[in-house]
Amino acid sequence: MVLARLTVLAGPSGVGKGTVAALVAARYPKVYLSVSATTRAARPGEAEGRSYFFVSREAFEAAQEAGEMLEWAAYNGNLYGTPRQAVEDALGAGRPALLEIDLAGARQVRRAMPGARQVFLMPPSWAELERRLTERGTETDSERAARLATAEREILARDEFDYVLTNDDLDRTVASLAAIMGLD
Ligand code: 5GP
Repeated sequence: MVLARLTVLAGPSGVGKGTVAALVAARYPKVYLSVSATTRAARPGEAEGRSYFFVSREAFEAAQEAGEMLEWAAYNGNLYGTPRQAVEDALGAGRPALLEIDLAGARQVRRAMPGARQVFLMPPSWAELERRLTERGTETDSERAARLATAEREILARDEFDYVLTNDDLDRTVASLAAIMGLD
């Protein structure tokens, strides 16, 4: 029996990880797309339980201390984590699972689950990443500057990943990720 595998999708904020992951999950319904918990406030249009589980810092820390997070990280002042049980249930049921997380989280998964595939998504250019983050219009100037500084650090670590994809064509990126995940 081939065990379903976990795939991690990392990459800088604004690169389009969320869009790529959502399209793969929509095209391949057997894929389990993990829903993270976060302490950040919901953006307009984000739905509880679909985009994230929006929780208080106290609730997050309690879950983390109880061992309920597969991985977690602080990102620009907020906490983000992957609820462990849902991922384990999906893998146990033979569903390939996909996590869209930051670099620190990807490193934790690499240590805890060395069999997981690690994919890093690159922007076509730095200017394009800046443009996408600005156009999204969901962050303040200082929040955006912090995300760009984090992005620079994350991009420097891309060689740690098994695969590096450049998101210059959404359809091609989705097809490449699906191929890496062994989806047909
Ligand atoms: P955003 O605030 O833009 O939704 O997410 C900020 C960063 O946190 C992104 O790089 C996103 O991939 C990452 N992130 C989202 N969920 C998780 C998670 O569960 N764990 C970790 N480590 N990072 C996450």
